[in-house]
Amino acid sequence: MLELSGGTVVDADGRRAADVAVADGEVTAIGPDLESEADRRLDVTDRYVAPGLVDAHVHLALDARADVTTLRGDEETMLAYRGAAHLREAVRAGVTTVRDLGGPATLAVDAREAVAEGVLEGPRVVPAGQNITMTGGHAHYVGGCEVDGVAEARKAARTQVKRGAEALKCMATGGILTEGAETGAPELFEDEIRAIVEVGEAAGVPVAAHAHGTGGIKNAVRAGVDSVEHGTFMDAEAAEMMAERGTYWVPTTRALVAIAAVGVEGGIPEWVVAKTDDAVDDHRASFDLALEAGVPVAMGTDAGTPFNDHAGAAEEMELLVERGLSPAGALEAATVGAADLLGLDGVGLVRDGYRADLVVLDSDPLADATAWRDPVAVVAGGDLVSADLG
Ligand SMILES: [Zn+2]
Repeated sequence: MLELSGGTVVDADGRRAADVAVADGEVTAIGPDLESEADRRLDVTDRYVAPGLVDAHVHLALDARADVTTLRGDEETMLAYRGAAHLREAVRAGVTTVRDLGGPATLAVDAREAVAEGVLEGPRVVPAGQNITMTGGHAHYVGGCEVDGVAEARKAARTQVKRGAEALKCMATGGILTEGAETGAPELFEDEIRAIVEVGEAAGVPVAAHAHGTGGIKNAVRAGVDSVEHGTFMDAEAAEMMAERGTYWVPTTRALVAIAAVGVEGGIPEWVVAKTDDAVDDHRASFDLALEAGVPVAMGTDAGTPFNDHAGAAEEMELLVERGLSPAGALEAATVGAADLLGLDGVGLVRDGYRADLVVLDSDPLADATAWRDPVAVVAGGDLVSADLG
């Protein structure tokens, strides 16, 4: 049993002075002067106790190298060992839940089990299994499952569910990291995406669509997906469609910003940098459209893409605010919003009976988005994974 004493609790419900007691993976009591029976007590006076971040879009198998295509031919075991290191990086950076949106075979499903068993240190993993893409489609070369037609799409979706996927990921358009693919061009057709959505609905797992181009975004939204990932070339109509249906947007801003900042000098292939440079301004404009229309936002980093390492959620929080969200809006997107998108109950608030996923911060994240940098303590699923209270 653990108690965090003397701090200010801060979450989507606001802020209040309260001690927090944790036992058996849950918050068991919260309030002033608890004086619980805790065998370990952390003095967090003058500090803030916030919910751990939920990152709705990562790739545990990817290691942020400059040229992703050089992963071709790496054994799955090697990718899994790297994934173990990425889990540790993420949780120490204050991320207590990650949704893996596509990797080879059962890598992310197994990561979920390894963390749950206590074999690996890491955030809770919500795995999508393999991404579902058309033949030759985006990310087919990093463990994608290639399908054509409704029957194959259905089969691929059911295969992921059978293996234990808690989300499904499909490719509605081309992408930046696949050579030859046009970023904005539609890929899976609307009927193929709908088949995946129907499997997801029957199994109770949300469906995420990678979509940059306007047409692909609309195909995915009409097909009924739960989230549009990236959403680079959104237009006003797409934003309104999403707002009306409650389709989440996961902007993954850091993925684009990291590539644009480093460029070819850092070893990123020229075609990747060119596609990114074409996308950055439109992606920024998508924020104006989405916020104006009231599209719900969930935080996701796309961690693993070039120079976008697994410890970067705090930077995504700052980018969300730079692009127009309030610090409170960013907190919501990374806690209750992302938890809602992932279909997780009891996650995202500091509340009695909720999962004990907590970060201790030096400043108030409702006032200042940079507060998420370098959490001084992290509790994940009730375990104190790091504490540097000075
Ligand atoms: Zn991704």
